[in-house]
Amino acid sequence: MPVATPICSRVSASRPAKRSRRPVTGSLTTIHQAARRTVRRLGERQRLRRRPPSETATGVDTVIDGRAVWSFCSNDYLGLASHPLVIAALQAGAQRWGAGGGASQMISGYTTAHRALEQTLAEWLGCERALVFSSGYLANLGVMSALVGRGEQVVQDRLNHASLLDAARYAGARLSRYDHADPGHLALRLRQAPETVLIASDGVFSMDGDVAPLPQLLAQAEAGGQLTLIDDAHGLGVLGAEGRGSAEYHGLEIHRFGLWVVTFGKALGSCGACVLGDADLLEAVSQAARTLIYTTAPPAAQIEATRASLRLCMEDAGPRQRLQAHVERFQNEARRRGLPVSPSPTPIQPLLVGADDAALRWSAALLQRGFWVSAIRPPTVPEGGARLRITLSAAHQEAQVDALLDALEEIAADEGARRGVPL
Ligand SMILES: *Cc1c(COP(=O)(O)O)cnc(C)c1O
Repeated sequence: MPVATPICSRVSASRPAKRSRRPVTGSLTTIHQAARRTVRRLGERQRLRRRPPSETATGVDTVIDGRAVWSFCSNDYLGLASHPLVIAALQAGAQRWGAGGGASQMISGYTTAHRALEQTLAEWLGCERALVFSSGYLANLGVMSALVGRGEQVVQDRLNHASLLDAARYAGARLSRYDHADPGHLALRLRQAPETVLIASDGVFSMDGDVAPLPQLLAQAEAGGQLTLIDDAHGLGVLGAEGRGSAEYHGLEIHRFGLWVVTFGKALGSCGACVLGDADLLEAVSQAARTLIYTTAPPAAQIEATRASLRLCMEDAGPRQRLQAHVERFQNEARRRGLPVSPSPTPIQPLLVGADDAALRWSAALLQRGFWVSAIRPPTVPEGGARLRITLSAAHQEAQVDALLDALEEIAADEGARRGVPL
């Protein structure tokens, strides 16, 4: 048998040596200039994003920039990310399965652990089938591109998560958006485009913490014959007495919605995602979703961690009840103290401050006082909608929630004095 020439040596052999020594081309210079200009402009507008490196495990007590702080900005709503049983499941999973994903699910990366997780979720949430993805972002892209044809009409809430909006683009769909959580405006959109094939909404909105009007959405979809796709990343484990999420919160059955997406990186404290729905639809998704087929499977060890946290989430309502008590306490107290909170029945509690620089000042002042809360600015939220995105967790102590409220009240007074008005 002839020995095949390695691809890299063939490439380099066929390439004129001179090419690599060519001076920087015009287009490369242009890209460099544009890149520097983009970053400079973002800086001038106070829009640069930073990634402060945390020095501790996910949890309330953390250290950033060498400073010990209480975190109020993770999505680990039930405190499961560092739960001893979840960590033990990840460790045992690594012993049993190894550390990696191996290959695509379609090649050899799908294991009996993945299958068991899918079966547990499908049964618990009352759907025919579940399909696991490496992340929620990839799940949304995969589902929509698999089921919606190029040029077909999709309607979405204006404030949907970026991954749903990007999914419509990736699918090549025509996208129209209705005003946030406004069924009347959705009805108008559907009258304007009765050929619409899909209505998509977050179950809980990631930057506002409010819940979508799912009963009205479902009624319109059933009347118009559209498929619904609900992304319940922030609902699972949090809403409903048993933690089944937005459907349980509204007293609806999940199987009535065409497709339901849940993610494991929020309340379950792990990472990855699942799409749920009827078996025919999901078979089509598994055959066509490029974000499932052409990416490495989520590692089985991580799946074992997700299974452990799902078990805890299903068996023990205690953390969910504690979290709900924090949410109610925070809402009531923040209102009483005149803080600019918006109504949110979920652990996402935005404090709307409006201007970008104000959001940065609030966040810095909180850090000074030992609280880690991130400032969220456009384009993640609409212009003029900069905010602090406070997230509560069952892992917080009531005294920590109270201390945060005290700090916010102080900062609000400073800000009011700064602007010459009481807040
Ligand atoms: C976080 C989030 C996602 C993305 O999920 P990942 O698993 O983090 O990729 C999708 N949708 C919503 C609403 C989210 O909040």
